[in-house]
Amino acid sequence: MTTSGRASVHVKAPGKINVFLKVGALDDEQYHDVAIAYQAVSLYEDVRVSDAPDFSVEVNGSVELSRVPLDGSNIAIRAARLLAARTGYTGGAHIEIEKHVPVTGGMGGGSADAAATLLACDALWGTELPREELLDLARKLGADVPFAFTGGTAIGTGRGDELSPALAKGTFHWVLALAEFGLSTPAVYRELDEHRTRHAQDIYPADPRPSVEANVLQALRAGDAHMLADAMHNDLQAPALHLEPSLADVLELGEQNGALAGIVSGSGPTVAFLTSDVDSALELQVALSAARLNVVRATGPVHGARIVGD
Ligand code: ATP
Repeated sequence: MTTSGRASVHVKAPGKINVFLKVGALDDEQYHDVAIAYQAVSLYEDVRVSDAPDFSVEVNGSVELSRVPLDGSNIAIRAARLLAARTGYTGGAHIEIEKHVPVTGGMGGGSADAAATLLACDALWGTELPREELLDLARKLGADVPFAFTGGTAIGTGRGDELSPALAKGTFHWVLALAEFGLSTPAVYRELDEHRTRHAQDIYPADPRPSVEANVLQALRAGDAHMLADAMHNDLQAPALHLEPSLADVLELGEQNGALAGIVSGSGPTVAFLTSDVDSALELQVALSAARLNVVRATGPVHGARIVGD
């Protein structure tokens, strides 16, 4: 029996765009340090958790759902189990996810589900862990989970999970081209490593401790879309394009139709186009839809995981 007295808790958590992503050299443990500028955007996962004797998950939503596991490997169930183990809670939870963030799209949808589930179970069960401890559990679930918790605009270093908030002004307008296929994050990193090994003679070795460039921080601070368009960068874009050459055509189409710049989001395959205002975003959405791409609009930054009243 829960101690909060609630029948269910509903949490909304956002997807994200990495407006800057630099990947460091492989370290001795075969990991990369990264430097990421995260922006939470207005594509939300809706997660509703209710009391149940065991752990189960049900998934609906507006995006292709076939790649979402429905067993204990679902990151939402892993999040609920982790919180139960940490707090000694002996019951279970039924988790309903309404997905709007593309699956394996490089926008952190699974991470948003995990952050939302942690927050919802904590409220439903009345375990009331301090925020720092919830963030600690978030970190154990995945490098992008703490950001789904905090939202807004943040810089992630280390594995991407050492977060510091970044100053940001205004609202940025995005048009997102969603792909029918997914790209595996480990496969994209492998492709990058292989490229770096193959061309070791011709390219500068990667910085083991990368950082976010000053012009990105300045653009975010100024809320200036043109400045951000010039500063955006993603080290995973070239390997993602190598694995999926069709993404190059998507990038070109967006840039021909008024986008200030396009970038592969995280490990892809979602392509995010930055526009100067809402009108250009609408025009770009129409043009890309006419070319039979599946597109949605989003704005950022938005808040992180939050309980909402039903
Ligand atoms: P990131 O940008 O954080 O690397 P992503 O956006 O590319 O992630 P997600 O959709 O967050 O990808 O996660 C995809 C992988 O996680 C798939 O292998 C999928 O089977 C598995 N997965 C586990 N739980 C979930 C979930 N709740 N939603 C989506 N994918 C999940």
